[in-house]
Amino acid sequence: MPETLIRNAHTVLTMDDARQELTGADIRIRDGAIAEIGEGLEPGGATIVEAGRCVVTPGLVNTHHHLYQTLTRAVPGGQDALLFGWLKTLYPIWARFGPNEMFTSAQIGLAELALSGCTLSSDHLYLYPGGARLEDTIHAAAELGLRFHPTRGAMSIGESQGGLPPDALVEDEAAILEDCIRVIDTFHDAAPGSMCRVGVAPCSPFSVSRELMRDAALLARDKGVMLHTHLAENDEDIAYSQAQFGCRPGQYAEELGWTGADVWHAHCVKLDGQEIDLFARTKTGVAHCPCSNCRLGSGIAPVRRMRDAGVPVGLGVDGSASNDAGSLIGEARQTMLLQRVVNGADAMSAREALWIATRGGAEVLGRDDCGRIAVGQRADLALWDIGGIESAGSWDPAALVLAGPRKVAHLFVDGREIVRDGRICTIDLEKAILRQNRLAQRLSDLV
Ligand SMILES: [Zn+2]
Repeated sequence: MPETLIRNAHTVLTMDDARQELTGADIRIRDGAIAEIGEGLEPGGATIVEAGRCVVTPGLVNTHHHLYQTLTRAVPGGQDALLFGWLKTLYPIWARFGPNEMFTSAQIGLAELALSGCTLSSDHLYLYPGGARLEDTIHAAAELGLRFHPTRGAMSIGESQGGLPPDALVEDEAAILEDCIRVIDTFHDAAPGSMCRVGVAPCSPFSVSRELMRDAALLARDKGVMLHTHLAENDEDIAYSQAQFGCRPGQYAEELGWTGADVWHAHCVKLDGQEIDLFARTKTGVAHCPCSNCRLGSGIAPVRRMRDAGVPVGLGVDGSASNDAGSLIGEARQTMLLQRVVNGADAMSAREALWIATRGGAEVLGRDDCGRIAVGQRADLALWDIGGIESAGSWDPAALVLAGPRKVAHLFVDGREIVRDGRICTIDLEKAILRQNRLAQRLSDLV
């Protein structure tokens, strides 16, 4: 791959250990990595990207998503429901999906994320109707060029057994574990710089059995991959845990092997003090999804307390059926605002929110090669043009979270340009949007 030289950046927010902020710096990209940072670097034969109007940040990291849900945004029956009611509205629609729906919705969701500064996204795909498979989303990410951590989700307790999902959407537990092994063996790449790492992710304690939670943890440890699920999302979730398992979600997770640096849980809105201590002690990660939590009225996660205690926290947009947008920079702003609502105006700075969105997310996903700008790191970079109206008149790069812009000018993933001058340049996005809208129309006609 030819070299790229990002030249004369207005500001580089490195998110390195010293949290250095550089002005007028150049960044040389070679072989997918950051090769050199300094002033007045020799261009040689490199492709030049002039960055005098740009704040450069590490690519943002999305730690929780259900990409397939971009096909079910703003569904009328689910617009004003709490989590369980919302799920019951959407399950029958999702049951009509197949491989085409999974591929297209993933591509749209990932492109939307890329435009909002995201270079690395996880995904939690926990239903496989109509012959859909995890690789439908892996192919979408590879074509677009985003770094991808898909997780093989699952549901096994249908309505007839007291679970929430319809029986048609649940799978046999032995088949789930078998398919986990298949996708890990086929697609997981543990090497540094990896573009695809697979995780194991039963959907939630209320949609799979205790045995599957335990076996999934054993399998993930055997294979050396990460574990992910939903936990302690709202009051209904806590009540379910206490009624069904006789304990809080934290204890349930701990008993089944679901704590540790190789585990991250989505939401955790309702973690109590003891559970926060447990997560801090075990370095169990949290995917904080503030817009989704607001949208579903779930509450405000105790992110300030988690961070102060030492819990690794990253950000997630969550699925587009509960957000309904997919802007990661928007989540950084929402994180900052919500912590201020609860704890006061000095409770979280814009810079801390941006740190959580980049370095924090990379740590939650077990990536020490992404999330900061330093020589030797992968070249996952977001360039934000601050010469436009959103940040006109701003005095400080914190404007990125406090004001805007909301979309990147350029985005590099592993040194490859994914967004150029504000447009996706690896796929035909207009065509993908048309395909997506046709599929959404067909689904809505069937309801
Ligand atoms: Zn979710």
